[in-house]
Amino acid sequence: MSGRILIIDTVATNRIVMKVKLLSAQYDVVACATQDEAKASFIEQRPDLIVINLADHVEDHHAFCRALKSCPDTSDISIVGTGIADTARARFAALDAGADDILPSPINDALLHARIRSLLRKRHTPAELWMREGTQRALGFEEVVAGFERPPRITLLTANPVLSTGLTARLNRINSLGVTVLGIDEVLRTTAISQSPDLFVIDSTTMRNPREDLFRLVADLRSRDQTRHISQLVSLSSDAVETAAMALDLGADDVITTSVASDELGIRCVALARRKRQQEQLRTTVRDGLKAAVTDPLTGLYNRRYATPYLTEIAKQSKKTGQEFAVMMIDIDHFKAINDTHGHAAGDAVLVELADRLRNNLRAIDLIARVGGEEFLVALPHSTPEQAQTAANRLCRLVNQKHFSVGANRHPLRVTISVGVAVGGVESTDIIGADDMCHQADGALYVAKSSGRDRVSLTHSAA
Ligand code: GH3
Ligand code: MG
Ligand code: MG
Repeated sequence: MSGRILIIDTVATNRIVMKVKLLSAQYDVVACATQDEAKASFIEQRPDLIVINLADHVEDHHAFCRALKSCPDTSDISIVGTGIADTARARFAALDAGADDILPSPINDALLHARIRSLLRKRHTPAELWMREGTQRALGFEEVVAGFERPPRITLLTANPVLSTGLTARLNRINSLGVTVLGIDEVLRTTAISQSPDLFVIDSTTMRNPREDLFRLVADLRSRDQTRHISQLVSLSSDAVETAAMALDLGADDVITTSVASDELGIRCVALARRKRQQEQLRTTVRDGLKAAVTDPLTGLYNRRYATPYLTEIAKQSKKTGQEFAVMMIDIDHFKAINDTHGHAAGDAVLVELADRLRNNLRAIDLIARVGGEEFLVALPHSTPEQAQTAANRLCRLVNQKHFSVGANRHPLRVTISVGVAVGGVESTDIIGADDMCHQADGALYVAKSSGRDRVSLTHSAA
């Protein structure tokens, strides 16, 4: 896995040893002695991850980490702290300053590499790429993150709830919601999770076969639709370093040992839950943004951006199957007069109601889009000229036979539409492309308008 790693360590031999280890794993590695050097190297190229010796007596590296994590441009750079004493206090201080993990000396190489792989993998998800490109700001993501933060929802997974009572009690103290305890077999039955948690804490010490059962569970949870986005924190016995490395490689987000201090457990749980929620919000924001990009906000119909490629696809399918398809261009008659006489709001109400009537009177496979101010496009796959003509006549009646309500205390308005229809020829060889169909439907619409409005006109070739 490629990745750019920046080492910050005042001690030259430490830097060299770490650099050799990371180069052997094919990372792009830069080593610096001071924060100033590190900042200068940032300007050339941003690192994906920083390995920093926090035991520096000259510079305050905790403050440096804190500053990186609080700046939007650098907050996604992962930090692995080294060089600290393996005490509860030192570990907590480093995590609290923003380190994603700490590796006390002597560093276990398997764990170092697995941890780095895990941190880099998280950065390389599509969501992270969006964030890195600064797209989150354009999509309003920053606003979402800054909002109210609810306590994390934690589910403890255990093979034996009785053996996990100690861990359960400690997790219960982390937040007001309390922890849900679930059997390992239960969680794999999809119906077992009623409310999706932010975090699974997996107590591997209760498993009969801690390696096999744990690896299967971690990988299983990562691959299932319902659970794959939920953070995973694995609790292991202190000597299970190789197991920890393997769990990280299989998809666990973090590992702790049974001797972890409560403060550290809390800070890790909160960070993992927050991360899961941020990614969830980002996914929603991206999804909503995409939807907004192809939808007309007034009527909720698709817009031209969506309709054009969709129509091309219908035309392609039609060529393949030899089945005809039809395109209608619908334009409200004298709409300007409606606006001028009754106001723009009344005009808007007519557009909204017309969109509803169209939606409710066409088939699910038909595409309806608002492609101009008072112009709508309807694509009818698998339609003969007769069927298209019938549908267009029906739409005309649907509009002219029932007046449109434009608000309380106002008289409903009579509205009419003109419809131009283009249909691929009866012979399959005559079936034409999307652009031509639109062009022909526009031509037919012009004929409908000029011959009196409130009517349907079919293209000559299909008539
Ligand atoms: P024709 O029968 O020939 O189609 O005449 P028309 O008045 O419908 O056509 P014209 O193109 O002259 O006017 C269309 C009007 O639609 C002009 C524009 O102000 C109005 N319009 C465009 N978008 C909207 C909208 O979102 N809301 C409202 N209320 N009016 C809109
Ligand atoms: Mg028009
Ligand atoms: Mg019009």
